[in-house]
Amino acid sequence: MKTIGLIGGMSWESTALYYQLINQGIKREMGGLHSAKIVLVSVDFAEIESLQIAGEWSKAGQLLAQAAVSLQSAGADFFLICTNTMHIVAEQVQAAVRIPLLHIVDATGNLIKNKGFSRVGLLGTAFTMEQDFYKDRLVQKYGVDVLTPNQRERLIVHNVIYQELCSGIIKKESHDKYQNVIDSLRERDVDCVILGCTEIGLLVNRETSCIPILDTTQIHVDAALQECLMKS
Ligand code: GLU
Repeated sequence: MKTIGLIGGMSWESTALYYQLINQGIKREMGGLHSAKIVLVSVDFAEIESLQIAGEWSKAGQLLAQAAVSLQSAGADFFLICTNTMHIVAEQVQAAVRIPLLHIVDATGNLIKNKGFSRVGLLGTAFTMEQDFYKDRLVQKYGVDVLTPNQRERLIVHNVIYQELCSGIIKKESHDKYQNVIDSLRERDVDCVILGCTEIGLLVNRETSCIPILDTTQIHVDAALQECLMKS
């Protein structure tokens, strides 16, 4: 079993989910008292969020690069950045270490290809929905069309993430707002909706949805489990 490195804390609400889902997966695959070999570096999200707002991406990238170096020194064989948004600095972080980054967009893109989807809706922070780093990777590497909600809806989706989900606040009224956004994407003929933020799965229920929902937290965890258990 390989050792998984996690850069977490963005927010810790979703990092806790990564920890739980990875261990549940190892127990399912290996049985008994087996649990995952994990090294975690958890950052202070308030520091990261201030840098996001200031547009200081390279400073935020430096903090995550330091975290990646710590993971490498602590024996991680590969690592995950447990947030979609901060993949904006994925290249900078990867450049700081020899161990490979398991990129969240690649894990998601591979699943989209396997399922044969070609037109996808994307929910996430404003950074993820509006900047190019995420959509371009999906379009260029996986050949899909990516649709995002309109400006008013994007603001709703973004604010619920930072004002509620990252603090563990789950509200029925926000669930209903998200459902409306998903419904309008569905009316634009998307094949599925990507929950491109690692906290949205806390709010939106995949099972009861009338359109396939791709939860990037679960997808990222599944890819990590596959890598972790791959025979070397
Ligand atoms: N966890 C979120 C994401 O997946 C948002 C928090 C952040 O800005 O990193 O994008």
